[in-house]
Amino acid sequence: MAVDITTDLNKVRNIGIMAHIDAGKTTTTERILFYTGITYKIGEVHEGAATMDWMEQEQERGITITSAATTCWWKDHQINIIDTPGHVDFTAEVERSLRVLDGAVAVYDGVAGVEPQTMTVWRQANKYSVPRMCFVNKLDRTGADFFRCVDMMVERLNSTPLVLQLPIGAESDFLGVVDLVGMRALTWRGETKMGEDYEVEEIPEDMAEQAAEYREKLLETLAEADDDVMEKYLEGEELSVAEIEAAIRRATLADKLNPVLCGTAFKNKGVQPLLDAVVKFLPSPLDIDGIKGHAVNDEEKEIIRQPKDDEPFSGLAYKIAADPHLGKLTYVRVYSGKLEAGSTVVNSVTGRKERIGKVYQMHANKREEIASVGAGQIVAVMGLKDTKTGHTLCDPTNQVVLESMTFPAPVIEVA
Ligand code: GDP
Repeated sequence: MAVDITTDLNKVRNIGIMAHIDAGKTTTTERILFYTGITYKIGEVHEGAATMDWMEQEQERGITITSAATTCWWKDHQINIIDTPGHVDFTAEVERSLRVLDGAVAVYDGVAGVEPQTMTVWRQANKYSVPRMCFVNKLDRTGADFFRCVDMMVERLNSTPLVLQLPIGAESDFLGVVDLVGMRALTWRGETKMGEDYEVEEIPEDMAEQAAEYREKLLETLAEADDDVMEKYLEGEELSVAEIEAAIRRATLADKLNPVLCGTAFKNKGVQPLLDAVVKFLPSPLDIDGIKGHAVNDEEKEIIRQPKDDEPFSGLAYKIAADPHLGKLTYVRVYSGKLEAGSTVVNSVTGRKERIGKVYQMHANKREEIASVGAGQIVAVMGLKDTKTGHTLCDPTNQVVLESMTFPAPVIEVA
Protein backbone atom coordinates (compact mmCIF):
# COMPACT_ATOMS: atom_id res chain seq x y z
CA MET A 1 0.00 0.00 0.00
CA ALA A 2 1.27 3.42 -0.90
CA VAL A 3 1.81 5.68 2.10
CA ASP A 4 1.82 9.44 2.61
CA ILE A 5 5.13 10.68 3.85
CA THR A 6 4.93 13.86 5.84
CA THR A 7 7.62 14.11 8.42
CA ASP A 8 8.66 16.70 10.94
CA LEU A 9 11.22 18.46 8.75
CA ASN A 10 13.33 19.31 11.77
CA LYS A 11 14.07 15.61 11.90
CA VAL A 12 15.15 15.20 8.28
CA ARG A 13 18.76 15.30 7.12
CA ASN A 14 19.56 15.26 3.40
CA ILE A 15 23.24 14.50 3.30
CA GLY A 16 25.90 13.52 0.84
CA ILE A 17 29.07 11.59 1.55
CA MET A 18 32.05 12.89 -0.36
CA ALA A 19 35.45 11.29 -0.68
CA HIS A 20 38.44 10.63 -2.86
CA ILE A 21 38.09 7.23 -4.45
CA ASP A 22 39.07 4.43 -2.04
CA ALA A 23 38.86 6.60 1.10
CA GLY A 24 35.93 4.49 2.25
CA LYS A 25 32.77 6.24 1.09
CA THR A 26 31.05 2.98 0.17
CA THR A 27 32.12 1.19 3.34
CA THR A 28 31.06 4.11 5.54
CA THR A 29 27.68 4.31 3.81
CA GLU A 30 27.17 0.58 4.17
CA ARG A 31 28.03 0.80 7.86
CA ILE A 32 25.55 3.63 8.28
CA LEU A 33 22.85 1.52 6.66
CA PHE A 34 23.83 -1.41 8.85
CA TYR A 35 23.64 0.54 12.12
CA THR A 36 20.47 2.35 11.19
CA GLY A 37 18.78 -0.86 10.13
CA ILE A 38 17.43 -1.56 13.57
CA THR A 39 15.68 1.78 13.86
CA TYR A 40 14.30 1.70 10.34
CA LYS A 41 10.73 2.90 10.18
CA ILE A 42 8.23 4.19 7.66
CA GLY A 43 6.26 7.17 8.85
CA GLU A 44 5.22 6.12 12.32
CA VAL A 45 5.33 2.39 11.69
CA HIS A 46 8.32 0.75 13.28
CA GLU A 47 9.51 -2.24 11.37
CA GLY A 48 12.29 -3.41 13.62
CA ALA A 49 11.61 -7.12 13.37
CA ALA A 50 11.37 -7.32 9.61
CA THR A 51 14.55 -5.35 9.33
CA MET A 52 16.36 -7.65 11.70
CA ASP A 53 15.62 -10.61 9.44
CA TRP A 54 16.82 -8.70 6.47
CA MET A 55 19.95 -7.65 8.31
CA GLU A 56 20.80 -11.22 9.16
CA GLN A 57 20.60 -12.17 5.52
CA GLU A 58 22.40 -9.12 4.32
CA GLN A 59 25.17 -9.53 6.85
CA GLU A 60 26.11 -12.67 4.99
CA ARG A 61 26.19 -11.02 1.62
CA GLY A 62 27.16 -7.47 2.50
CA ILE A 63 24.91 -4.50 2.03
CA THR A 64 25.15 -2.58 -1.17
CA ILE A 65 23.69 0.76 -2.00
CA THR A 66 22.34 0.99 -5.48
CA SER A 67 20.19 4.05 -5.19
CA ALA A 68 20.86 7.73 -5.91
CA ALA A 69 19.11 8.52 -2.61
CA THR A 70 18.79 6.05 0.24
CA THR A 71 16.62 6.72 3.26
CA CYS A 72 17.47 5.43 6.72
CA TRP A 73 16.54 6.24 10.30
CA TRP A 74 18.70 7.08 13.27
CA LYS A 75 17.25 7.97 16.67
CA ASP A 76 13.97 9.23 15.31
CA HIS A 77 15.60 11.21 12.52
CA GLN A 78 15.25 10.44 8.84
CA ILE A 79 18.56 10.55 7.02
CA ASN A 80 18.46 10.64 3.22
CA ILE A 81 21.87 9.77 1.85
CA ILE A 82 22.37 11.29 -1.57
CA ASP A 83 24.96 9.67 -3.74
CA THR A 84 27.67 12.08 -4.77
CA PRO A 85 30.01 10.79 -7.44
CA GLY A 86 33.64 10.92 -6.37
CA HIS A 87 35.31 11.04 -9.73
CA VAL A 88 36.55 14.34 -11.07
CA ASP A 89 35.21 13.59 -14.52
CA PHE A 90 31.71 13.75 -13.04
CA THR A 91 32.15 17.37 -12.02
CA ALA A 92 28.78 18.44 -13.38
CA GLU A 93 27.07 15.55 -11.65
CA VAL A 94 28.76 16.42 -8.36
CA GLU A 95 27.52 19.99 -8.65
CA ARG A 96 24.01 18.81 -9.32
CA SER A 97 23.96 16.58 -6.25
CA LEU A 98 25.50 19.33 -4.12
CA ARG A 99 22.56 21.50 -5.03
CA VAL A 100 20.16 18.91 -3.71
CA LEU A 101 21.72 18.01 -0.38
CA ASP A 102 21.66 20.19 2.73
CA GLY A 103 24.86 18.98 4.37
CA ALA A 104 27.74 16.61 3.74
CA VAL A 105 30.23 14.30 5.37
CA ALA A 106 33.71 14.24 3.85
CA VAL A 107 35.45 10.90 4.38
CA TYR A 108 39.26 10.82 4.42
CA ASP A 109 41.72 7.96 4.28
CA GLY A 110 43.70 8.33 7.52
CA VAL A 111 46.89 7.33 5.71
CA ALA A 112 46.57 9.36 2.51
CA GLY A 113 44.87 12.37 4.16
CA VAL A 114 43.40 15.05 1.93
CA GLU A 115 43.59 13.82 -1.66
CA PRO A 116 43.03 15.67 -4.95
CA GLN A 117 39.43 14.61 -5.60
CA THR A 118 38.41 15.70 -2.13
CA MET A 119 39.93 19.08 -2.87
CA THR A 120 37.88 19.39 -6.07
CA VAL A 121 34.60 18.41 -4.43
CA TRP A 122 35.38 20.54 -1.38
CA ARG A 123 35.82 23.63 -3.54
CA GLN A 124 32.55 22.92 -5.29
CA ALA A 125 30.83 22.59 -1.91
CA ASN A 126 32.37 25.92 -0.83
CA LYS A 127 30.55 27.54 -3.72
CA TYR A 128 27.19 26.52 -2.26
CA SER A 129 28.31 26.97 1.39
CA VAL A 130 27.29 23.38 2.10
CA PRO A 131 27.69 22.69 5.85
CA ARG A 132 30.21 19.87 6.18
CA MET A 133 31.65 17.48 8.72
CA CYS A 134 34.76 15.34 8.31
CA PHE A 135 35.33 11.69 9.14
CA VAL A 136 38.96 10.53 9.18
CA ASN A 137 38.57 6.89 8.29
CA LYS A 138 40.93 3.88 8.17
CA LEU A 139 42.63 4.67 11.47
CA ASP A 140 43.31 0.93 11.79
CA ARG A 141 45.70 1.07 8.82
CA THR A 142 49.45 1.06 9.22
CA GLY A 143 50.70 4.61 8.85
CA ALA A 144 47.36 6.25 9.66
CA ASP A 145 47.85 9.65 11.25
CA PHE A 146 44.77 11.54 12.41
CA PHE A 147 46.64 14.75 13.26
CA ARG A 148 48.45 14.93 9.94
CA CYS A 149 45.11 14.59 8.19
CA VAL A 150 43.69 17.47 10.28
CA ASP A 151 46.72 19.62 9.38
CA MET A 152 46.12 18.85 5.71
CA MET A 153 42.54 20.11 6.01
CA VAL A 154 43.97 23.50 6.96
CA GLU A 155 46.79 23.48 4.41
CA ARG A 156 45.06 21.97 1.41
CA LEU A 157 41.42 22.90 1.93
CA ASN A 158 41.92 26.15 3.79
CA SER A 159 39.16 24.95 6.11
CA THR A 160 38.70 25.37 9.86
CA PRO A 161 38.60 21.86 11.33
CA LEU A 162 36.99 21.57 14.75
CA VAL A 163 38.44 18.43 16.29
CA LEU A 164 35.69 16.75 18.32
CA GLN A 165 37.44 13.43 18.92
CA LEU A 166 40.90 12.02 19.52
CA PRO A 167 41.81 8.47 18.54
CA ILE A 168 42.58 6.01 21.33
CA GLY A 169 45.32 3.66 20.23
CA ALA A 170 46.62 3.43 16.70
CA GLU A 171 46.67 1.09 13.74
CA SER A 172 45.75 -2.45 14.77
CA ASP A 173 45.39 -1.24 18.38
CA PHE A 174 42.93 1.50 17.46
CA LEU A 175 40.30 1.04 20.14
CA GLY A 176 38.00 4.02 20.18
CA VAL A 177 37.80 7.77 20.55
CA VAL A 178 37.92 10.44 23.21
CA ASP A 179 34.80 12.57 22.91
CA LEU A 180 36.08 16.09 23.58
CA VAL A 181 32.61 17.57 24.06
CA GLY A 182 31.41 15.06 26.67
CA MET A 183 34.99 14.49 27.95
CA ARG A 184 34.61 10.73 27.95
CA ALA A 185 35.94 7.75 26.04
CA LEU A 186 33.90 5.69 23.58
CA THR A 187 35.36 2.28 22.88
CA TRP A 188 34.58 -0.75 20.82
CA ARG A 189 36.20 -3.88 22.17
CA GLY A 190 34.25 -6.68 20.59
CA GLU A 191 31.98 -7.25 17.63
CA THR A 192 29.73 -4.27 17.14
CA LYS A 193 26.00 -4.59 16.75
CA MET A 194 23.30 -2.53 15.14
CA GLY A 195 21.96 0.54 16.89
CA GLU A 196 23.91 2.47 19.49
CA ASP A 197 26.60 0.12 20.61
CA TYR A 198 29.77 1.27 22.30
CA GLU A 199 31.26 1.33 25.76
CA VAL A 200 31.35 4.68 27.56
CA GLU A 201 34.43 4.91 29.74
CA GLU A 202 36.69 7.38 31.53
CA ILE A 203 39.32 9.02 29.38
CA PRO A 204 42.47 6.83 29.61
CA GLU A 205 44.93 8.33 32.13
CA ASP A 206 47.77 8.59 29.66
CA MET A 207 45.57 10.70 27.38
CA ALA A 208 44.26 13.11 30.03
CA GLU A 209 46.74 15.85 29.21
CA GLN A 210 46.25 15.61 25.45
CA ALA A 211 42.46 15.58 25.90
CA ALA A 212 42.60 18.73 28.07
CA GLU A 213 44.79 20.45 25.48
CA TYR A 214 42.45 19.59 22.58
CA ARG A 215 39.36 20.49 24.59
CA GLU A 216 40.89 23.95 25.07
CA LYS A 217 41.62 24.17 21.34
CA LEU A 218 38.04 23.13 20.58
CA LEU A 219 36.66 25.91 22.79
CA GLU A 220 39.05 28.48 21.30
CA THR A 221 38.08 27.57 17.73
CA LEU A 222 34.41 27.61 18.65
CA ALA A 223 34.75 30.99 20.37
CA GLU A 224 36.29 32.44 17.20
CA ALA A 225 33.23 31.31 15.28
CA ASP A 226 30.48 32.02 17.79
CA ASP A 227 29.89 35.19 19.84
CA ASP A 228 27.98 33.46 22.64
CA VAL A 229 30.85 31.07 23.23
CA MET A 230 33.37 33.92 22.98
CA GLU A 231 31.57 35.88 25.68
CA LYS A 232 31.47 32.95 28.07
CA TYR A 233 35.00 31.90 27.19
CA LEU A 234 36.40 35.37 27.95
CA GLU A 235 34.56 35.45 31.25
CA GLY A 236 35.95 32.05 32.12
CA GLU A 237 32.46 30.52 32.37
CA GLU A 238 32.01 26.78 31.98
CA LEU A 239 29.89 25.74 29.02
CA SER A 240 27.51 22.79 29.28
CA VAL A 241 27.56 19.96 26.72
CA ALA A 242 24.24 21.26 25.35
CA GLU A 243 25.63 24.78 24.96
CA ILE A 244 28.74 23.54 23.19
CA GLU A 245 26.69 21.35 20.87
CA ALA A 246 24.31 24.19 20.04
CA ALA A 247 27.27 26.42 19.20
CA ILE A 248 28.88 23.73 17.03
CA ARG A 249 25.61 23.43 15.14
CA ARG A 250 25.31 27.19 14.61
CA ALA A 251 28.90 27.49 13.41
CA THR A 252 28.61 24.45 11.13
CA LEU A 253 25.38 25.70 9.55
CA ALA A 254 27.02 29.08 8.99
CA ASP A 255 29.84 27.21 7.22
CA LYS A 256 32.39 28.73 9.60
CA LEU A 257 34.01 25.47 10.64
CA ASN A 258 33.90 21.73 10.08
CA PRO A 259 33.51 19.26 12.98
CA VAL A 260 36.03 16.42 12.65
CA LEU A 261 35.43 12.87 13.85
CA CYS A 262 37.46 9.73 13.33
CA GLY A 263 37.37 5.96 13.27
CA THR A 264 37.37 2.99 10.97
CA ALA A 265 34.34 2.07 8.95
CA PHE A 266 35.98 -1.22 8.06
CA LYS A 267 36.16 -2.43 11.66
CA ASN A 268 32.93 -0.63 12.57
CA LYS A 269 34.46 1.76 15.05
CA GLY A 270 33.31 5.34 15.08
CA VAL A 271 30.35 5.22 12.72
CA GLN A 272 27.66 5.50 15.41
CA PRO A 273 29.05 8.74 16.90
CA LEU A 274 29.28 9.99 13.31
CA LEU A 275 25.54 9.37 12.93
CA ASP A 276 24.88 11.19 16.19
CA ALA A 277 26.89 14.12 14.86
CA VAL A 278 24.98 14.15 11.55
CA VAL A 279 21.75 14.50 13.51
CA LYS A 280 23.18 17.09 15.91
CA PHE A 281 25.22 19.31 13.65
CA LEU A 282 24.06 19.09 10.04
CA PRO A 283 21.06 21.11 8.83
CA SER A 284 17.48 20.06 8.33
CA PRO A 285 15.66 21.35 5.21
CA LEU A 286 14.23 24.08 7.46
CA ASP A 287 17.69 25.43 8.22
CA ILE A 288 18.24 26.18 4.55
CA ASP A 289 16.97 29.41 3.00
CA GLY A 290 13.92 29.05 0.77
CA ILE A 291 14.96 28.07 -2.73
CA LYS A 292 15.18 30.84 -5.28
CA GLY A 293 13.65 30.69 -8.70
CA HIS A 294 12.17 32.95 -11.27
CA ALA A 295 8.94 33.27 -13.20
CA VAL A 296 8.57 31.41 -16.47
CA ASN A 297 9.56 33.80 -19.31
CA ASP A 298 10.77 36.44 -16.88
CA GLU A 299 14.15 35.79 -15.35
CA GLU A 300 14.06 39.13 -13.57
CA LYS A 301 11.03 38.20 -11.50
CA GLU A 302 12.33 36.33 -8.50
CA ILE A 303 10.19 33.72 -6.78
CA ILE A 304 11.20 32.12 -3.49
CA ARG A 305 9.67 28.86 -2.42
CA GLN A 306 9.68 27.77 1.21
CA PRO A 307 9.87 24.13 2.35
CA LYS A 308 6.24 23.95 3.41
CA ASP A 309 3.57 21.51 2.39
CA ASP A 310 1.00 24.27 1.82
CA GLU A 311 3.15 26.08 -0.77
CA PRO A 312 2.63 25.24 -4.46
CA PHE A 313 4.61 22.18 -5.51
CA SER A 314 8.12 22.69 -6.87
CA GLY A 315 10.90 20.17 -7.25
CA LEU A 316 14.19 19.65 -9.00
CA ALA A 317 15.03 16.56 -11.05
CA TYR A 318 18.64 15.90 -10.19
CA LYS A 319 19.38 12.43 -11.40
CA ILE A 320 17.99 9.95 -13.88
CA ALA A 321 18.87 6.35 -13.24
CA ALA A 322 17.98 2.97 -14.64
CA ASP A 323 16.61 0.66 -11.97
CA PRO A 324 16.91 -3.05 -12.78
CA HIS A 325 13.29 -3.66 -11.73
CA LEU A 326 11.50 -0.40 -12.35
CA GLY A 327 13.21 0.98 -15.42
CA LYS A 328 13.78 4.69 -15.70
CA LEU A 329 13.62 6.56 -12.41
CA THR A 330 13.89 10.31 -12.01
CA TYR A 331 15.18 11.41 -8.61
CA VAL A 332 13.46 14.55 -7.46
CA ARG A 333 14.07 16.81 -4.51
CA VAL A 334 10.79 18.37 -3.43
CA TYR A 335 11.46 21.97 -2.40
CA SER A 336 7.93 23.14 -1.70
CA GLY A 337 4.39 21.78 -1.59
CA LYS A 338 3.53 18.14 -2.10
CA LEU A 339 4.35 15.72 -4.86
CA GLU A 340 1.51 13.28 -5.49
CA ALA A 341 1.57 10.02 -7.40
CA GLY A 342 -0.78 10.16 -10.40
CA SER A 343 -0.85 13.97 -10.49
CA THR A 344 0.00 16.16 -13.45
CA VAL A 345 2.79 18.66 -13.09
CA VAL A 346 4.56 20.98 -15.50
CA ASN A 347 8.18 20.89 -16.47
CA SER A 348 8.71 24.65 -16.48
CA VAL A 349 11.91 24.39 -18.51
CA THR A 350 10.35 22.54 -21.47
CA GLY A 351 6.88 23.96 -20.88
CA ARG A 352 5.41 20.47 -21.21
CA LYS A 353 3.09 18.63 -18.87
CA GLU A 354 4.35 15.48 -17.18
CA ARG A 355 2.30 12.84 -15.44
CA ILE A 356 3.81 11.61 -12.20
CA GLY A 357 3.65 7.82 -12.17
CA LYS A 358 4.53 5.81 -9.10
CA VAL A 359 6.64 7.50 -6.45
CA TYR A 360 9.15 5.64 -4.30
CA GLN A 361 11.27 6.25 -1.29
CA MET A 362 14.34 4.06 -1.63
CA HIS A 363 15.75 2.18 1.35
CA ALA A 364 18.81 -0.01 1.51
CA ASN A 365 16.80 -3.19 1.46
CA LYS A 366 13.61 -2.22 -0.31
CA ARG A 367 11.66 0.54 -1.93
CA GLU A 368 8.53 2.02 -0.46
CA GLU A 369 5.69 3.12 -2.71
CA ILE A 370 4.45 6.52 -1.69
CA ALA A 371 1.14 8.24 -2.43
CA SER A 372 2.39 11.71 -1.64
CA VAL A 373 5.49 13.27 -0.23
CA GLY A 374 6.07 16.66 1.35
CA ALA A 375 8.62 19.44 1.03
CA GLY A 376 12.22 18.69 1.96
CA GLN A 377 12.05 15.07 0.83
CA ILE A 378 13.83 13.19 -1.92
CA VAL A 379 12.09 10.50 -3.94
CA ALA A 380 12.34 8.48 -7.13
CA VAL A 381 9.57 9.04 -9.68
CA MET A 382 8.51 6.63 -12.40
CA GLY A 383 6.93 7.62 -15.66
CA LEU A 384 8.52 10.96 -16.52
CA LYS A 385 9.08 11.15 -20.26
CA ASP A 386 10.65 14.44 -21.07
CA THR A 387 12.43 15.61 -17.94
CA LYS A 388 16.19 15.90 -17.76
CA THR A 389 18.53 16.48 -14.86
CA GLY A 390 18.41 20.08 -13.70
CA HIS A 391 14.81 20.61 -14.85
CA THR A 392 12.15 22.04 -12.55
CA LEU A 393 8.83 20.29 -12.04
CA CYS A 394 6.03 22.42 -10.61
CA ASP A 395 2.37 23.05 -10.00
CA PRO A 396 0.76 23.91 -13.40
CA THR A 397 -1.16 26.81 -11.85
CA ASN A 398 1.80 28.25 -9.96
CA GLN A 399 4.84 27.86 -12.11
CA VAL A 400 8.43 28.59 -11.23
CA VAL A 401 11.82 27.84 -12.71
CA LEU A 402 14.15 26.98 -9.84
CA GLU A 403 17.53 28.64 -9.72
CA SER A 404 19.49 27.13 -12.53
CA MET A 405 22.87 25.74 -11.79
CA THR A 406 25.84 26.87 -13.77
CA PHE A 407 27.91 23.82 -14.50
CA PRO A 408 31.48 24.06 -15.58
CA ALA A 409 32.19 21.91 -18.61
CA PRO A 410 32.79 18.38 -17.32
CA VAL A 411 36.44 17.49 -17.11
CA ILE A 412 36.93 14.31 -19.11
CA GLU A 413 40.17 12.64 -18.26
CA VAL A 414 41.64 10.76 -21.15
CA ALA A 415 43.78 7.86 -19.99
P1 GDP B 1 35.23 4.30 -1.85
O1 GDP B 1 35.92 4.20 -3.17
O2 GDP B 1 35.53 5.61 -1.19
O3 GDP B 1 33.77 4.01 -1.90
O4 GDP B 1 35.96 3.24 -0.91
P2 GDP B 1 35.47 1.82 -0.38
O5 GDP B 1 34.48 1.98 0.71
O6 GDP B 1 35.11 0.96 -1.52
O7 GDP B 1 36.81 1.32 0.31
C1 GDP B 1 37.99 1.11 -0.42
C2 GDP B 1 38.79 -0.01 0.21
O8 GDP B 1 39.19 0.35 1.51
C3 GDP B 1 37.99 -1.30 0.36
O9 GDP B 1 38.85 -2.38 0.11
C4 GDP B 1 37.56 -1.27 1.83
O10 GDP B 1 37.37 -2.57 2.35
C5 GDP B 1 38.73 -0.58 2.49
N1 GDP B 1 38.34 0.17 3.68
C6 GDP B 1 37.27 0.99 3.85
N2 GDP B 1 37.26 1.50 5.09
C7 GDP B 1 38.34 0.99 5.73
C8 GDP B 1 38.87 1.14 7.04
O11 GDP B 1 38.34 1.84 7.91
N3 GDP B 1 40.03 0.45 7.31
C9 GDP B 1 40.66 -0.34 6.40
N4 GDP B 1 41.76 -0.96 6.75
N5 GDP B 1 40.17 -0.51 5.16
C10 GDP B 1 39.04 0.15 4.82
